[in-house]
Amino acid sequence: MEDTQGVINLCNTYVLNTYTRTPVVFVKGKGSYLWDEEGKRYLDFFPGWAVSGLGHCHKRVVNAVSRQLKEIIHVSNNYYSKPQSQLAERLSKNSFGGRVFFCNSGAEANEAAIKLARAYGSEEGRYKIITMDKSFHGRTLATLTATGQDKVKKGFAPLPEGFEHVPFNDISALKEAIDDITVAVMIEPIQGEGGINIADNDYMKELRTLCNAKDILLIFDEVQSGMGRSGKLFAYQHYGILPDAMTLAKSLGGGFPIGAMVVADKFVDCLKPGMHASTFGGSPIVCAAANAVLDAIEKDRLLENANKMGDYLLKQLNRLKRRYPKIINNIKHKALMIGIELNIEGKDIVDRCFKRGLLINCTQVNILRIMPSIAVKRSEINKAVKILSEVIAK
Ligand code: PLP
Repeated sequence: MEDTQGVINLCNTYVLNTYTRTPVVFVKGKGSYLWDEEGKRYLDFFPGWAVSGLGHCHKRVVNAVSRQLKEIIHVSNNYYSKPQSQLAERLSKNSFGGRVFFCNSGAEANEAAIKLARAYGSEEGRYKIITMDKSFHGRTLATLTATGQDKVKKGFAPLPEGFEHVPFNDISALKEAIDDITVAVMIEPIQGEGGINIADNDYMKELRTLCNAKDILLIFDEVQSGMGRSGKLFAYQHYGILPDAMTLAKSLGGGFPIGAMVVADKFVDCLKPGMHASTFGGSPIVCAAANAVLDAIEKDRLLENANKMGDYLLKQLNRLKRRYPKIINNIKHKALMIGIELNIEGKDIVDRCFKRGLLINCTQVNILRIMPSIAVKRSEINKAVKILSEVIAK
């Protein structure tokens, strides 16, 4: 058995070095808490990079997956399985109707959406997809090309053709970018990696109108903003409009790797048998997990909790902002999707919080990202804000 340093050495020797890692080995998770090899407890306010949206090892997910493990683990997609069919129905009925394609990650869900759009436009030779500056859509070649951040593209040329980026929340820029070969607009209603940038109400409405007028698919990437984090099941539901396709992953599986693309009825025939696939996509295990996530959201009233706790956390953070106006510039938020914009770089604060047993994240250099479990408790928020306040005071 390796000790902490032994595990880190093994990883640093044998795992490809594509991540910046903090030197800790986590061995146990429950709710908002994690424990390391030495038994130290951490309060996790950025659980699993937004994957463990219900918190770690949620009882409903553990029970559902344990039950499913004893029945059947994998069914290939040329047969049928109950958890997949049931999950598709629930995603469809809880969003905008239509059908679902299952895969394993956010990038894969966005790849599916890109292929859907290209298939729709292929007869007319339309293939261009417009995305937003500061967006993030994944790390595959097409999705990193769709991503509106240069840093993810460096070293990977030549990139696929047919993507253009425009400023977020700028309808004139979008109108200007639309041409005869444009087939889709892909947008996160709330940009996550981009620094918690929230789409304006009017912008989203105009966007929908524009896409209708030009016969352009409107694709919402809800990989990070979906599954209750924004206080509604999907962030687009704040805007009173519907997308043509929506992508999901992260929290959908309660920690299990699942991605999904929901496609509106009008477009379901664009992808026909043989045009797209994913061997592991929608396996009984991950779908049982995702069904349990939906059960938890519905039966444990977690949207209500996300809104209530989001308001409470915001109040506490605004108090911090008033106390430290030189450090905190702005707080961007939708329920439990929160960005604290600093006047300084955020890395040092994240590191100091970690040492005191609080996990948070920093994106875009100066935005602290706080996205606790949507089942978070008031006492956990108090504890997190106390640590953050002590760190900022220093
Ligand atoms: N889309 C958004 C909005 C994301 O935030 C992410 C990941 O952070 C992705 C797509 C890519 O998801 P994955 O890492 O599961 O491929």
